Amino acid sequence: MMADDDYLEAADSTRDDTYDYDDVQFAVRLTDVSRVYRMGSNKIEALRNINLEIEPGQYVVVSGHSGSGKTTLLNVIGAIDVPSSGRLLVMDVPISDYDESFRATFRLTTTGFIFQSYNLVSTLTALENVMFPMQMYDKTPDEIEEVAMNLLARVKMDHRPDHLPWQLSSGEQQRVAIARAMANDPPIILADEPTANLDGESGQMIRELLSELNAEGKTVVVMTHDEGIIGHKNARRFTMENGELKSNV
Ligand code: ADP
Ligand code: MG
Repeated sequence: MMADDDYLEAADSTRDDTYDYDDVQFAVRLTDVSRVYRMGSNKIEALRNINLEIEPGQYVVVSGHSGSGKTTLLNVIGAIDVPSSGRLLVMDVPISDYDESFRATFRLTTTGFIFQSYNLVSTLTALENVMFPMQMYDKTPDEIEEVAMNLLARVKMDHRPDHLPWQLSSGEQQRVAIARAMANDPPIILADEPTANLDGESGQMIRELLSELNAEGKTVVVMTHDEGIIGHKNARRFTMENGELKSNV
């Protein structure tokens, strides 16, 4: 288990120092996690007593109807949202015990997020979008740019570094978003219906990139209806039903 000080030290150092995640037991561990939204007098139980243990390097796929709680679950795992009750460990760090400022730093280095609608910053170029999450490190702008260009090459977008998001196709925007998710070489990749808005060919590239990242050892968690992702050879499959997580194995 990583102590807090170790973690902060890791977050402060540049990513050239390889932080040792080898001893981590669970990439993600949820214990009795619930998330309740209160809308006036209405109570929506988006997550009901979720228990889930994901080991480093696993490929986890969760499907389920719209409104079943998939996005809420992913946001909780990614420390964008916090459980109403229960406990969340990410890379063995009890992240739900910390404040937003710690969680923000933790997110940058630990989880790369890929959204259904890409969520690129509209005023930044493709290259700048990928550089954006790397700004907190004590690297020079030239070094950051070099890493970002390599990531764009990785997703076959290095021929369009200066394009703004609206000048790119949907599939191209999602490839840039994947490069951004990889910016700080996080051990966990989280994707929320990443192929839902894409045509077949673009979807295929995204599926392959997710498989490659997993083959390199990253933990991948995907919320999706995409049969091509659900059928991933090593996937652990789950379904969300009205806030409850059911294993399909
Ligand atoms: P999915 O991603 O599977 O479509 P969501 O996690 O987005 O499901 O939503 C689960 C439930 O929680 C839905 O009933 C939805 O309306 C509700 N919900 C989601 N986000 C909020 C929010 N910010 N405030 C209130 N209710 C929400
Ligand atoms: Mg959703």
